[in-house]
This record gives sequence, C-alpha cells and structure tokens, in this order.
Amino acid sequence: MSLLPVPEALETILNSTNELDTETIHLNDALGRVTANDITSNLTQPPFAASAMDGYAVKYDDIDKPLTVIGESQAGNSFDGTIENGEAARIFTGAPMVDGADTVVIQENVTRNGDQIIINDCKAKGSNIRAAGGDFKNGDVLVTKGTKIGARQIALLAAGNVAEISVYRQPKVAILSTGDELLEVGSEIGPDKIVNSNVPLFMALVEENGGIPINLGTAKDTLKDVQTKIALVKDVDIFVSIGGVSVGDYDIIQDVLKEAGLKVDFWKVAMQPGKPIVYGDFNSIRYFGMPGNPSSSYVCFANFMLPAMNKMQGLDGVGYPTSMATVDHDIRAGSGRMNYMRAIYRENEDGTKSVDASFNQGSARLKTMSDANCLLIRDVSAPEAKAGDLVKIVLI
Ligand code: AMP
Ligand code: MG
Repeated sequence: MSLLPVPEALETILNSTNELDTETIHLNDALGRVTANDITSNLTQPPFAASAMDGYAVKYDDIDKPLTVIGESQAGNSFDGTIENGEAARIFTGAPMVDGADTVVIQENVTRNGDQIIINDCKAKGSNIRAAGGDFKNGDVLVTKGTKIGARQIALLAAGNVAEISVYRQPKVAILSTGDELLEVGSEIGPDKIVNSNVPLFMALVEENGGIPINLGTAKDTLKDVQTKIALVKDVDIFVSIGGVSVGDYDIIQDVLKEAGLKVDFWKVAMQPGKPIVYGDFNSIRYFGMPGNPSSSYVCFANFMLPAMNKMQGLDGVGYPTSMATVDHDIRAGSGRMNYMRAIYRENEDGTKSVDASFNQGSARLKTMSDANCLLIRDVSAPEAKAGDLVKIVLI
C-alpha cells in the first residue's frame, strides 16, 4: 500500500471533522474556551466622565484665581452639587466628574490652605478626564467569534458586564493504550515491563488543548481484552488508541475495531516518525490509531489530532504555529517521507533564530521529545541542507 502524503491526510481529517455544538457558560468558567459568536458589551465604559487623577475639579477659565473648595467627589460617591465661578471640588481617580467643572488639576500642582487652593500649573482645558465611553460603548463588539478566551479577554468581558457567553463545547476524547508490556506509573515494574507514558502524554495534550480526556486504561494484546475495552467508547467526539497499529503479530487493534464498526479512511502516511497512523470513522466518532512509540504518537498528535481538536472548537484547524530559522548543521536530503525532527531553537541577541536538530531522532526516545521546543520539518524531497540554511519549524 502506498503511503498517503501528509497534506492529503490532514485534508481528509479536516473534511470529516465538524465544529461541535455550542453551550452557554459563566464568564468565570471561560478560560481557554472559544467564543461561538461575537460578544457585545452590556454597558458603556467608563459609564460616566471620570477623573483620571487625584486632584481638583475646576473651571479652566478660573485657573489663575484662588478657588474655594466646596465639596468632594470620590470613586463610588459623586459630589451632587455644581461648582460656580471661583469654586473647585476635591476629586479622586475614578470619581465622577463634577457638574460645572471642565478640567482636573493634579494635586501636585495645587497649593491648599484650608478650603482655599491656588493652581500653580495646568496645561490645558479638559486635562485628566476620562470621557464616558472612551474605552467602549454599550453594544460594541468586545470579542469576536472564534477567539480563545484568555485572562485579558475575561477582564474586558467583566468590565462590559457580560456574565454569560456562548462557546463551543469541549471535545471529549477517549484514550486507550494497548500492550502487554505496559504498567501504570507508580507500579512495581517487574521484568519485561515498561511504564505507560503515552496515556499521560495524551491526557495532558487533550487537556492542554481544551478537550476533556477520558482514560480507558490499557488493553492486553488479546482480542478479548481489546473488545472489552472498545465497548467503553461511547459519548465521545474522538477516540484515540495507542499502539498496535503496525504490522506485528500483536498489532490487532485495527481488525478488532473494524469488526465493531470502524471505517478506515487511511492507514500509513508518508511521514517519519508516525508512519503507521490509522484514521477513520468509528460509529460517528473520529478515530485516531496512534503508533506506540511516544515521539511517533506525539508527531501524529501535532500534525493531525490537534488540528481536528481545534476545528471542533471553532478554531482555524492548523495546529501549532510554524516559523523559520537557520539550521546550525548540515542535514541530509529528504527521504521520501515528511520528516519531523525534534529540535531546539533559540532567539539570538541579534534577532536571528537558529535551530539545532543534531540529536538522536529515535522515535522511542522521550528525553529528546521533552527537551525539544520545536520540530524541524524536512519536506519529502527536500535537497540536502547546509549549516546556515533557512528551514521550517513547528513551535510546539
Ligand atoms: P506498538 O505500536 O504497539 O508496536 O508499540 C511500539 C513501541 O511503543 C513499543 O516499544 C511499545 O512498548 C511502545 N509503547 C506502546 N504503547 C506505549 C505506551 N502507552 N507508553 C509507552 N510506550 C508504549
Ligand atoms: Mg504494542
């Protein structure tokens, strides 16, 4: 079977993945969620003209005369009188402007004696006043559809008195690992066994990217155990299995799933690592069959599953951002498969970016996966690269 090119595999995935439905949530729960429509303000901010400084509210035409202080406007408690010629009012930052006044003089520029003040300096009429609606107005769009809500958006929406927002539902992702050799972290690790690291990897990746992970545990490499475990795959948007998708005698997951309703869209992609990935429809659930080697499954996540999760949440479906950097060393020509090399990139003091992928790329290695801060992408038929050449990287 010929290998499917990476762009075609991604297109197949995105074409078969839809935005999830939406739900209304409280702003306090909105961090990391994606807005399902434009969100408009419920009030004007500031709601009233307010002082931007601590000082005195005055008439600008009066600033050369001694003035009598007749009242005080405090944040939360306005002065309910009006100043006339020859009068001023004490005012503090955030306090409503005083009727009759058109300017605030900062207190550092005023000499006070009892209820009398003398203004030593005032640059211009209208100084130190925040206009009503200067930030935004009632009905203005504060956050557009398809925005991932962060701390700054939460602050803005709170200021606009928006307590509830409509967001896309979080994808629910069932995660199943397979393999007789796997034990959970913290177990007594006997001979022939290793610690399951892919389930913790995928639980964290799903959560980190706005999904809800569901751990289905580990199936032994037997028909019966795999059948029992896949019967648990219900009410989710994505099902990921890890391991058992290659061509070994114990790689049985694909066959068992087919009996239970899996329709395979593709198996094996022209990429390294990650070649044996399976993708399809498992009873209307998006199915990703990831290879067991941690770096392979991670690269498959970055290329394929993350864009699908993004699309489900109303984001653009392109996955991690890419950039360019100059490579520190020579790299041999492309191998006929897209190659994703774990690499470290640096931003140099002169503003240039460089990248180093000169470490062992064995796909079973976890340390290099953890140390890397990018993947260096080598195209299928890239010519040999020389040290100093610009190359494409994915910022992971
Ligand atoms: P497989 O894809 O099942 O042939 O597994 C390929 C390699 O990945 C083998 O060395 C497995 O032991 C290892 N492997 C499979 N699943 C996991 C997992 N959940 N955690 C860590 N290593 C795994
Ligand atoms: Mg296995």
